[in-house]
Amino acid sequence: PGQAELEALQHADVAALLPLPQAESDKYRRGVVGIAAGSARYPGAAVLAVSGALRGGAGAVRYVGPAGEAVIARFPETLVSDTGPAKAGRVQAWVVGPGVGDDAATVAEVLGADVPVLVDADGLRLADRDTVRGRGAPTVMTPHAGEAAALLGVSREEVEGARLAAVRELAARYRATVLLKGSTTLVADAGGGPVLVNATGTPWLATAGSGDVLSGLSGSLLASGLSARDAAGAAAYLHGLAGRYAADGAPAGAHDVANAVPEAWRDVR
Ligand code: AMP
Ligand code: MG
Repeated sequence: PGQAELEALQHADVAALLPLPQAESDKYRRGVVGIAAGSARYPGAAVLAVSGALRGGAGAVRYVGPAGEAVIARFPETLVSDTGPAKAGRVQAWVVGPGVGDDAATVAEVLGADVPVLVDADGLRLADRDTVRGRGAPTVMTPHAGEAAALLGVSREEVEGARLAAVRELAARYRATVLLKGSTTLVADAGGGPVLVNATGTPWLATAGSGDVLSGLSGSLLASGLSARDAAGAAAYLHGLAGRYAADGAPAGAHDVANAVPEAWRDVR
């Protein structure tokens, strides 16, 4: 009673959350984020998710999937595994879903991992609800309004007309932290409590691949040790700022948004 329903994300709060490497840090202690994304048809989704992950603070990015060649050509620092996620080696958090098409087996395999998992894009359609609900480690889901509508079995207009109710309902149904994308971004936790609101974005972010960068960035913050709510909130904040820097009054591609994340990070710190 009396508790605020909404909590605006503030610059200073995000600054306090961003991981800083310490003298005793090494790449493993900074966290390894696994990216299970892309397909022969959509290799770019893998490249963009990795691009976001490389700017999120994890010490290493591990990629599994069919787009390894495209990923390594663009980002040679990526650890590319030719196994499935379960055998890829230790990661502290996974991102699964962008561009995976109909690869339900990969989604199920990642959801079986005992570490935080972020599910986005195609992964949202393929994830089994009871499996997500039964997970021991945190789950983050990052739908846009259309994906949220499909998950809830309602129209996109209904979600747009009641975004706060929709994000809360999804969080409760999936026992997950849910980040609902749009002109403002909402983050709800499964256990209730105030919903985070982020308004740093710009309509220029409505561009193909933009969400893939966000999923990688959020996953990297999860691997760095932030809670699901903090990682999702901080990622939305940085991604929105990066969108402003990348598309300063002119259109930009999603890869430009990823390239602008370091500038957003410096601004926040
Ligand atoms: P996706 O639809 O998965 O590519 O994700 C799109 C990204 O762009 C999300 O981070 C959205 O929050 C952001 N976005 C889309 N449209 C807008 C808008 N009109 N204003 C601000 N951000 C937006
Ligand atoms: Mg998307």
